[in-house]
Amino acid sequence: MDALPADARYAIIGGGFAGLATAWALADAGVDGVVVLERDSRLCGHASSHNAAMCRALAEDDAWTALTAAGAAWLRSPPPGFTARPLVDDRGAVLLTGDPAPLAAAAARHQIRCAAITAAEVTARWPGLEVDRGGLWFPDDGCVDLDALTAGFVDGARRRGVRCVVDAGVTAIAHDGRAALTTTKGVLRADVVVAAGGAWSGALGALVGAATDFTPKKRHLFALRLDLGAAPIVWNVDADEWYVRPDGGGVLASACDHTTSAPGEVEVDDAVRATLRARLPAAMRGLTIERAWACQRTYAGGGPPRIGWDARVPWWCWVAGLGGHGVTASPAVGVRAAAALRDGR
Ligand SMILES: Cc1cc2nc3c(=O)[nH]c(=O)nc-3n(C[C@H](O)[C@H](O)[C@H](O)COP(=O)(O)OP(=O)(O)OC[C@H]3O[C@@H](n4cnc5c(N)ncnc54)[C@H](O)[C@@H]3O)c2cc1C
Repeated sequence: MDALPADARYAIIGGGFAGLATAWALADAGVDGVVVLERDSRLCGHASSHNAAMCRALAEDDAWTALTAAGAAWLRSPPPGFTARPLVDDRGAVLLTGDPAPLAAAAARHQIRCAAITAAEVTARWPGLEVDRGGLWFPDDGCVDLDALTAGFVDGARRRGVRCVVDAGVTAIAHDGRAALTTTKGVLRADVVVAAGGAWSGALGALVGAATDFTPKKRHLFALRLDLGAAPIVWNVDADEWYVRPDGGGVLASACDHTTSAPGEVEVDDAVRATLRARLPAAMRGLTIERAWACQRTYAGGGPPRIGWDARVPWWCWVAGLGGHGVTASPAVGVRAAAALRDGR
């Protein structure tokens, strides 16, 4: 990666999808002087690589869906030269629910294609999925190639002059007309600091007296030994949520758990295995769990992502709290963040 420069216009703290998408969008708009600081020795080493990689256009409410629908459209049709391979596959998604009308109405509001599907139709098309209810079929959802997305953001940004500095954890920030960021690689002076620290966003805010109301919530993922063939994403969005999707020769599954935990606390909680077995359709409950891991989805004050200037610190801008949609939403988040930065306060 790049060496730490002495000076930047925009210092972006955090090299996950929030920070990288913002850097890419700034560079794409012709802005120079952008530096990304990442504490780890690799970019996207936390939530941005330990997720389920699903591109779902419809999210839990209109504020989120404004970002996920725009992000999904971008991922399906990225700008020329962003990537040589498709970012999203075409497996589609089934949302299982006994009450599809509100979801169908929300999809219509955001021009997201979907159609009703019955439990019998799901099982007839994908025999391994013995589901107990139907719902809605979303043909344009799919799974994201995380490596291609990361490479697209990083390579595109660096080609236009962005510097990405790894092993550069920010430990202190002073301000005397400009920000002085102390990192594990040296000091960087910057006009504006962009906080894209994922689960550590509250800790970053605390360094400078900015907002700290970010909540990391731990979620587990499980690799099951099961071949569902070319099945789509299947997500039960009713009570006792769960989802599964084929992954290589097996299946990736989640019980949609969400336990508040300290930033970086991603230890596997064995009790969640039992929750998963209890929630999955009966035909899948006895399956071998080959691997389990957890990571954190982070929320800003319980709402949608915080994208824009801090209320108290005038040189501090947020791109944080991407919750459970930061892969899908990242291109739209980056564009919105870059616009806020270019517009100024
Ligand atoms: C289990 C799970 C499943 C998910 N599934 C999906 C999905 O299917 N689809 C979807 O769209 N989204 C999904 N998500 C959500 C998505 O992964 C996140 O919203 C997104 O990755 C968050 O990106 P981020 O850049 O905000 O955070 P991160 O990827 O965590 O990046 C933040 C970075 O900031 C760095 N950092 C923090 N503090 C400092 C510091 N002081 N100095 C320097 N660097 C610092 C960290 O090291 C880290 O690399 C899932 C998340 C989880 C946990």
